[in-house]
This record gives sequence, C-alpha cells and structure tokens, in this order.
Amino acid sequence: MLKLRFYGDPVLRKISRTVQSGELSETFLKEMSEIMYTQDGVGLAAPQVGISKRFFLYDIGEQLNVVVNPEILEKSKETEIGQEGCLSIPEVYEDIPRSAKIKVKYQDQHGNFYVKEMTGYEARVFQHELDHLNGKLFIDYLSLIKRRTLKPQLDEIKEKGEEILKRKLQSPEGTKSV
Ligand code: ZN
Repeated sequence: MLKLRFYGDPVLRKISRTVQSGELSETFLKEMSEIMYTQDGVGLAAPQVGISKRFFLYDIGEQLNVVVNPEILEKSKETEIGQEGCLSIPEVYEDIPRSAKIKVKYQDQHGNFYVKEMTGYEARVFQHELDHLNGKLFIDYLSLIKRRTLKPQLDEIKEKGEEILKRKLQSPEGTKSV
C-alpha cells in the first residue's frame, strides 16, 4: 500500500534516480493515480508516495499523463506568479513564480519519448512535479521571512500531516494541490 508522505519526511528531500524501462507496472501507477484523484490533486510525484524514482503523474482536467525521466530543455526567462499547493504540505497555499513557457522531454511508462512545449498552468504543474524529483519543494521559493511565518504550520504538518490532509479545508480560490 502506497502512502502519502508529508513535509519533514526525508524522502521528499532526496534526488530521485532514473527509471529503467519496464520498471513501472500498471497496477502501481493505478494505485498512485487513485491517491491523486482521491485527494483531489492535479499532480503527484513518486517521492510523495515514498518512491525515490524519477516519475510523476498529472491531470489538469484533460487526461492522466505519466511522465517518466523528465527534463526541461528550455525555459522562458519570463515568469508568471500563481498560487500553488502541495499534497505533501496540506493547507499551505502560496504565490510562486514559475517560467511561463517550457520545452520538455520525457518518456511514458512504455518508454516512448515525447518533446512538448507547455505554457501556463500545465507548465507550472510540470515544474512543481519535476522539483519533487530533485528534492525541492515549492516553499523553498519563499522568502526567509515568509518561511519563518509558516514555521508553526510546517511543524504541525511534520507531526500530523495525515490528520491535516483529512480536514480537507477549502483551499483559497479553489487552488488544487500538486
Ligand atoms: Zn507537490
């Protein structure tokens, strides 16, 4: 049984390793996507369920995408500010700058390669998830002062992330977590 991992869990700070071909079973991906959809998330990276491998899922309302061994080939200097949340850091929502446009390369679970250009929300989700594979969290982009303000909330998540997630409070402006 896969379980969501929360802020403070060391697996969220590890650099994930490359996925080998045939390593991801459909059952496993299905279980992971169920966790994502149950929690009303739009993205879920492997480290968030304790697996230190370079892949993630996302669905921005179109279809479920399986992204394996992703790379960002190009990113625009132009950034956009948007509100983000993370299933591993429940109830924290912050404005984060991300490149407005990115060009990415990745594989699916069958080993097929894709090169795509993304903008807006999809580009934001992709960058957030790829950060997870490098041990980076969205709160790392916040100022020191802001992070200090968040400390009590983060300490609470470390202790009882699961309970907080279950409270399922409404996010501001309906921001979905990734
Ligand atoms: Zn996240």
